[in-house]
Amino acid sequence: MARFIFITGGVVSSLGKGLMAASLAALLQARGYRARIRKFDPYLNVDPGTMSPYQHGEVYVTDDGAETDLDLGHYERFTGVPGRQSDNVTSGRIYQTIIQRERRGDYLGATVQVIPHVTDAIKAFAQADTDDVDFVLCEIGGTVGDIESLPFIEAIRQLRNDIGRENSVFVHVTLVPFIAAAGELKTKPTQHSVRELTSLGIQPDVLVCRCEQPLPASERAKIALFCNVRKEAVIPALDAPSIYAVPQAYHAEGLDREVLRAFGITANDSPDLSRWTEIVSRLSNPEGEVTIGVVGKYVGLPDAYKSLHEALVHGGIAHRVKVNIRWLDAELFEHEDALAAQLEPMHAILVPGGFGERGSEGKIASVRFAREHNVPFFGICLGMQMACIEGARNLAGIADASTTEFGPTSEPVVGLITEWMSEEGLQKREAGGDLGGTMRLGAYPATLAGNSVVRAIYGTDEISERHRHRYEVNVHYREALEKGGLVFSGMSPDGTLPEIVERPDHSWFVGVQFHPELKSKPFDPHPLFASFVGAAVKQSRLV
Ligand code: GLN
Repeated sequence: MARFIFITGGVVSSLGKGLMAASLAALLQARGYRARIRKFDPYLNVDPGTMSPYQHGEVYVTDDGAETDLDLGHYERFTGVPGRQSDNVTSGRIYQTIIQRERRGDYLGATVQVIPHVTDAIKAFAQADTDDVDFVLCEIGGTVGDIESLPFIEAIRQLRNDIGRENSVFVHVTLVPFIAAAGELKTKPTQHSVRELTSLGIQPDVLVCRCEQPLPASERAKIALFCNVRKEAVIPALDAPSIYAVPQAYHAEGLDREVLRAFGITANDSPDLSRWTEIVSRLSNPEGEVTIGVVGKYVGLPDAYKSLHEALVHGGIAHRVKVNIRWLDAELFEHEDALAAQLEPMHAILVPGGFGERGSEGKIASVRFAREHNVPFFGICLGMQMACIEGARNLAGIADASTTEFGPTSEPVVGLITEWMSEEGLQKREAGGDLGGTMRLGAYPATLAGNSVVRAIYGTDEISERHRHRYEVNVHYREALEKGGLVFSGMSPDGTLPEIVERPDHSWFVGVQFHPELKSKPFDPHPLFASFVGAAVKQSRLV
C-alpha cells in the first residue's frame, strides 16, 4: 500500500506549497521511491477550465484530457510523472458527483451530509489509482482556517485513522515574516496556524517555514517547542535563485530525511541529486543570452503562461543560455511603428495560445513581422491559427481570411470543429453547447511529413502532444496556403486536422495546434523549444 503525505498551508496563500510538494516528490524519487502528487482544490468550479487566466493562471492539461490546476505542471516538470485526471479534484467536482448520485437515488433515502458523504468522496479520491507508487503526496489548496477547505482537512484527519499513523505524515507550510522595524523574524503566525490545525484534529509532523532571512537556531527551537514538532523537523525555506534549485535547498535543510523519519524510515544514504546539480549549474553559469518576445493577451500575469515560461527556460538549459522573455501586449501592436520598435530587438518571436479576438490583429502583424524579417517564429495553438490567417491574407490572396471564433466570416481559414475521432471513438460538439470540458482536450497523435523541419527536430514520424482548443485550421485551405509557402508538415493520422505548419524557406518558422510546453522538463527540454531557442541563439549572432 502507498504511504500518504498530506500537505497543508497556513498564514497566507502563495507560499509555494506546490513547489514544495514537487520538490519533495523529486527528492523521494532521487532515493529510488516512486511518488505521485495530487491536488485538492477547495473552490466550487468543477475544474479550472472555465476560469479566466487572470483568476487562476494557466490551465494545465493532462494526457487524458483533464483541465487542471497549474501546480500539476510543476509536479510533472519536477518528477517526469505524467499527471492524470485523477490527480486533481475540486470541491465542485466532489459535490457534482454526490448530487448526481443523490438524484439517482443511490443514497437509499439517507440524508446526504458533508460528513460522511463529502469526506468519504474525498478519501476515495485520495486513495484511487495509487497501486503503482510508494508515496502519494496530497496537497490541499487554500489556507488552513478557510471555510472552503474544512471538508478536506476533516477527510485527511479521518484518513490517518483509517490507514494508520505509520502510513501517513502531515507537512504544514507556514510563513515566518521578517519585521524590518524590529529587525526580527516572527514565529507567532506559525504558532497560530498550527493551533488552528490542531484544533481540527491534525498535529503536523513536519513544519516548512518560508522565510526571507535565515531562521536562527533559537527561533527554530521556539517553533518546535510551541508547535509540538521535533526541532529538526522545523525546515527553514528561504527563497531560491531558481525554482529548480529548490529540491537541493530542501534536501540541505533535511526535508526528505525528516519526512521519511516521520514514517519510521531511517534514511542513511544520500539521494542522487546529480540531475538537479546539472540543471542548476547550467542555469547559474550561462554562456550567453537571448531575448524572446512573447506576443500575447494575458501578459500582465506571468502565471497565465507558466508552462510556456518554463519550456523556454528549458530550451535555454539545452543550449546553456539565459532566455530573457519579454511579455508583449498584442493589443499595442495594432499600430505598425509600435510593433517594429518592440520586435526589432527580439532574437525570436512567439505567439502563444489564447482565446478571443482581443489583440488578434497585433498577433497577426507580429507573425508578418517575423516572416518578413526572417526572425525565428513559433506559433502555439491560437498562434498557429494566426500564422495561417497571416499567410492566407498576405501570401494566398485571401483578404478576408479569419476564424469563426471571432464571428461569422466568408473565409473560415480557421473554423469550429464539431466532430473528430479520439481513442474513445467519434467526439461530437455543437456550436453554442457547454463551454466546460468540451474542447479537443488531451493527447492526440500526429504524423510528420518525411522531409519536414519538424520531422528532423523530433527525430520520429509519429508524435503525441496535448491539445486544448475548439477551433482548427480548415484543411480545405491547405492548397492555397501551401502555394503561399506554408507547408502542412504534421497532420492527424486520418489527414483531416492540421497539427503543424512550417515555412521551409525561413530561418525557423513553426506553428503547432497543440501545446508542446506542457510536456517540457528541465532535465528533458521539449525538442521544439530546444530547437527554437537554438534558432534564437543563431539569430543573436547575426544581429
Ligand atoms: N481559441 C483557440 C481555439 O479554441 C485557440 C485555443 C488555444 O490557443 N489554446 O481553437
